[in-house]
Amino acid sequence: MSGLIREDDLEQIKDRVNIIDIISEQVMLKKAGRAYKGLCPFHQEKTPSFSVDTSKQLWHCFGCGEGGDVISFVMKVDGLDFTEAVESLARRVGYAVHYTKTKSNNLGIKQKIYEINAAAAGYFSKVLFSPMGRETRDYLKSRGFGREIAETMWLGFAPDTWDGLKNYLLKKNFLEAEILKAGLTSQGSNGKSFDRFRGRLIFPIKDIQGRVVAFGARSLNGDNPKYLNSPETPVYRKGSVLYGLNLAKTAISSQSAAIIVEGYTDLLALKMSGIDNAVATCGTAFTLDHFKFISRFTDDIIFVFDGDAAGIAAAERGLELVSQIRLPGDNTLKKLLNSYKIGVKVLVLPEELDPAEYVAKNGVENFRLLITNAKQFTDFYLERIMIKYDINDDNQRQKAIAESLAFIKLLASAVAQEKYLKRIAEMADVSLETL
Ligand SMILES: [Zn+2]
Repeated sequence: MSGLIREDDLEQIKDRVNIIDIISEQVMLKKAGRAYKGLCPFHQEKTPSFSVDTSKQLWHCFGCGEGGDVISFVMKVDGLDFTEAVESLARRVGYAVHYTKTKSNNLGIKQKIYEINAAAAGYFSKVLFSPMGRETRDYLKSRGFGREIAETMWLGFAPDTWDGLKNYLLKKNFLEAEILKAGLTSQGSNGKSFDRFRGRLIFPIKDIQGRVVAFGARSLNGDNPKYLNSPETPVYRKGSVLYGLNLAKTAISSQSAAIIVEGYTDLLALKMSGIDNAVATCGTAFTLDHFKFISRFTDDIIFVFDGDAAGIAAAERGLELVSQIRLPGDNTLKKLLNSYKIGVKVLVLPEELDPAEYVAKNGVENFRLLITNAKQFTDFYLERIMIKYDINDDNQRQKAIAESLAFIKLLASAVAQEKYLKRIAEMADVSLETL
């Protein structure tokens, strides 16, 4: 992003924004004397120590010491940089920002795609609640998802036609080329464009600011692939967005933990059970971008994987997911374990259940208990290595030990290394000296 926001624009925007309106979207505020008080969104507390001074247009938390103006609040709560926060506030009050240097004209098409995506989401939602969407609504109901969660998550239905959405958007005065660029249509060999998503349940994917950047579309009639996603566009890079983070970020920050699930419906089910600090990767690998996003809000993440009778397939997929994070010229796991200072835990659900099924069967309190007792990533990783080999076979035991030791070398802390050396000796049933 190039170009600085003009200084008088900053003043104009701050004048137009009321800090109470912005903070009230995140914090329940009560008037107390000249100030407003509420529970701090940046640390966990039971009695309000978060205070907003309307005359100065400043906020301050006496609990954790955080404070600042409306821009710093938006930066912190939405995980934005300064320019993004100002742009976000400007949009809310309908103020056109000027830049000292002109931004690339990419901004024009980006803005257009956000508008097209929002219009498309509106269309899909309208169809879902029309007679055409009845079967899809029945499917959702059979999975326990009613109208409320469908509206919260902007779920929709793409009818099984070639140009339903395209015609709708053309009528809204969007251009065929723009719709194509937004990834909502594909171009056929005759040059004509047609709807990409047909006969599918639609999950709009929003960025951290709540703008629709892409769509996930689930087939309900057995069509392959089961999930079809938007292609990469000027506003969407695969692996850069976590589904549900725009709604979960405040809870992740105040509970200081993020639960990472695999599927859209896993997230929906947890959300309905009152677990609001979960996000979904939606079939893509967990990426370094994801880590960077999450680390703005918490240092602790818990991966939840579907259970499997032997408990192996799911775990292997879990490892695959983490090990897919590739960094040029550096060791992936080492970076992961040490650089982002994020504590990673892993939970493999029992009884071949996915999170939605587990909660339905065993209740949300038991799910919370599993989350609390999730394994440290290092423990989990070492156990998987040991399970892969037959420890009773000397040859295989040697391999298991070698692989475990190589992994332990990646840990930055000598204390942790020593602790896990002991674990390896225990698990491989050898003395520490022989390692
Ligand atoms: Zn605080």
